[in-house]
Amino acid sequence: MCVIVPVFNEAAVVGELWRRIDAVAARAPRYAFRIVFVDDGSRDGSFDELTRLAAHDPRITALKLSRNFGKEAAMTAGLDFAVGDWTVIIDADLQDPPELMLEMLAKAEQGYDVVYARRHARRGETWQKKFFAHLFYRLMGALNPGFDLPRDTGDYRVMSRRAVAAVLRLRETHRFMKGIFAWIGFPSAEVLYDREPRHEGRSKFSFLKLLNHAIDGITSFSTAPLRIATYLGLLVSLAAFVYGSVIVVQTLLYGNPVAGFPTLITSVLFIGGVQLLCLGIIGEYVGRIYGESKQRPLYLIERVVGAAPAVASGTQ
Ligand code: UDP
Ligand code: MG
Repeated sequence: MCVIVPVFNEAAVVGELWRRIDAVAARAPRYAFRIVFVDDGSRDGSFDELTRLAAHDPRITALKLSRNFGKEAAMTAGLDFAVGDWTVIIDADLQDPPELMLEMLAKAEQGYDVVYARRHARRGETWQKKFFAHLFYRLMGALNPGFDLPRDTGDYRVMSRRAVAAVLRLRETHRFMKGIFAWIGFPSAEVLYDREPRHEGRSKFSFLKLLNHAIDGITSFSTAPLRIATYLGLLVSLAAFVYGSVIVVQTLLYGNPVAGFPTLITSVLFIGGVQLLCLGIIGEYVGRIYGESKQRPLYLIERVVGAAPAVASGTQ
């Protein structure tokens, strides 16, 4: 059993997190706990804290990435080092209660490969975040990428060995892990819980970061925006044709009083806007092709302390 924790500037909470995971481990002696902390380029001494923890707990492995690669890459690094029958991914900030792990594992033992924690209520989150999160799940559902993205779930989940192996086969650079976790399929189940406010510190994700993440999510799993651009183009052309015909008919019937500057400027701006939007959409996909074609490693490891991972199931 392996618990993976992505850590970015969480020096204030990792100690408490470890205490709580330790208590959970004590309650479930039949699982041989391993904890893999992935320090995602923290600048607040998180790694020193992790080194201290690793020094007196032989179950801990702490990886230090060479810089901040982002949570998706950090989780992938952790999964590459995952060992055992079950792997749990959990946030460091204690928004995901470690105690829930046992309930999730019990559920997984009933024959599920993936058990994710679904939030009942999200305390300590702004209404804007909840609103846009809701909108995003709606949009993803409507774009129908061939699988269901579970709503109101974070990255807190239990995965079987084969589910982890499946996730690790997807080495794409633009990673949207929630989508990847859903894409692999396998029997999955959910466990409901109340999401606590952060234990310490602030969320690492600004609105802009989340928006970009959402665009990554959509473009990673759907080409529907390209289709929408096509239809938008068709629609605008059709409207232009109809309006053009109306003008021709009007001119033939009533002569040609020179007028219509406002209509002219509005339509030019409108068509310009639609063109830029469509170019932007195409650009998103071209950018992704660019990113993937370079085939860079997803992360680089600077240091590893604590228990040597028995077998790393993947490569960098
Ligand atoms: N995190 C990370 N790299 C980053 C940003 C965040 O590893 O670049 C980690 C962070 O330390 C935490 C988890 O991802 O364990 C979730 O971050 P946060 O709580 O800030 O996100 P939120 O709960 O607001 O979605
Ligand atoms: Mg959080």
